[in-house]
Amino acid sequence: MSDCLFCKIAAGELPSKKVYEDEYVYAFEDINPVTPIHILFIPKEHISGASEITSENSAVVSKIYEAIAKVAKEKGLDKSGFRVVSNCGADAGQTVFHLHFHLLGGTKLNWP
Ligand code: AMP
Ligand code: ZN
Repeated sequence: MSDCLFCKIAAGELPSKKVYEDEYVYAFEDINPVTPIHILFIPKEHISGASEITSENSAVVSKIYEAIAKVAKEKGLDKSGFRVVSNCGADAGQTVFHLHFHLLGGTKLNWP
């Protein structure tokens, strides 16, 4: 999608601190981290949010979780623990309307 911030980041048209990339998935450091480790995982294909996942496009969600597990291990988060969050829509505070998963870790997390 031509005017989407995360589409441009995935395409290398805007800068980002890349953490992981494969054919389907791109991951980069959040520009405004809320935890010591805060990485965003996105599909290269534009999907506006979790409410737009369908049987046609859902395979990329598995790819994203595989990438999360790989990066979490690389960062040692598999031992300490971590959280994965995807905000969808106004009540969740979604600000970028390209599906993304926050990997949060490196500190003790509160809930909710
Ligand atoms: P959400 O509020 O769940 O939609 O998350 C959007 C996230 O994108 C926020 O945590 C922002 O800090 C992050 N963000 C926005 N612009 C950029 C950017 N150019 N590079 C990296 N992260 C960004
Ligand atoms: Zn997009």
